[in-house]
Amino acid sequence: MEVINKDLSENKLFENLFDVIPFIVIVIDVKGYEIVFMNQFARQHYGNKIGQICYSSLYEETEPCLFCKIKELVTRDFKPNGNTFIWEHFNPVDDRWFQLQEKAISWPDGRTVKYTVSVDINQLKEIQNRLAEAHAELTFKNKALEEMIITDFLTKIFNRQKVEKDINVEVSRYTRYKRPLSIILLDIDKFKSINDTYGHNAGDSVLINLASIIKTNVRKIDLPGRWGGEEFMILCPETDIHGAVTLAENLRQKIEAHTFEIDRKVTSSFGVAQFKEGELAKDFIRRADDALYLAKENGRNRVEASG
Ligand code: GH3
Ligand code: MG
Ligand code: MG
Repeated sequence: MEVINKDLSENKLFENLFDVIPFIVIVIDVKGYEIVFMNQFARQHYGNKIGQICYSSLYEETEPCLFCKIKELVTRDFKPNGNTFIWEHFNPVDDRWFQLQEKAISWPDGRTVKYTVSVDINQLKEIQNRLAEAHAELTFKNKALEEMIITDFLTKIFNRQKVEKDINVEVSRYTRYKRPLSIILLDIDKFKSINDTYGHNAGDSVLINLASIIKTNVRKIDLPGRWGGEEFMILCPETDIHGAVTLAENLRQKIEAHTFEIDRKVTSSFGVAQFKEGELAKDFIRRADDALYLAKENGRNRVEASG
């Protein structure tokens, strides 16, 4: 008799304690799924369901919930195994996220029960989701920005900064691997007169089309970019002067043969240089520029190589 009284008072103590906690606390019999106890907070939230079956009264299910952790909290003979589970759960009935802490314990009446302390984290989840969305958007915008930094706004091929940087990278790689490396500098012939005759927009359209001819006719490893105005630079790794001259000559013919949106042929002149061991990147570029100057001097619409 004394023992029962002690148990009952312990039971009351448990319940009083749980009642002051400002979170949902629900205690369930691990064998029969009966709700043994709900604290005041839980009763306010769900109504008093004590004595009812948890999965039907709380989750509107006809059998134990698939996510139920009871089996992982008890031994085979339904004794508490000491495990505590803390997990996040979306409750479809409430349409809210909760963080649950669950553990099996011995209830004062001798039954093994599972208690769940449930904290509403819906607001936190919403903030997390908004943060994740903002992060994804930022990553996307960052990528777009990175693209923009290396792209020429008119022709959409690489810009001078990008090509210049890559020339420097390839030049420093040369000291280690000594692989042939060439550049081709291209300048449209008499472009000023195209602008003067057909207007600036027609000139722009020639630049766009010419960039596209270059892009589609170089190899995958080549790096074409707009050097400025009506000049283009093509960085050709793994290419000696003969290979680069062949590529330039091919481009020269393709441009000459192309029908642009103006009733005039467009031609261009080319200066080609192969990197010489020990020279600076700026001298390498200057030699291509000198060769281009020679191509202009020698009548335009031609390829000249630096010796
Ligand atoms: P050359 O055969 O000696 O190269 O003669 P050119 O007329 O091509 O050379 P010049 O340097 O005298 O003129 C280049 C022209 O390119 C002048 C400039 O207005 C024009 N230009 C530069 N950038 C752009 C652009 O973005 N769009 C247009 N439409 N024209 C541009
Ligand atoms: Mg020019
Ligand atoms: Mg020109």
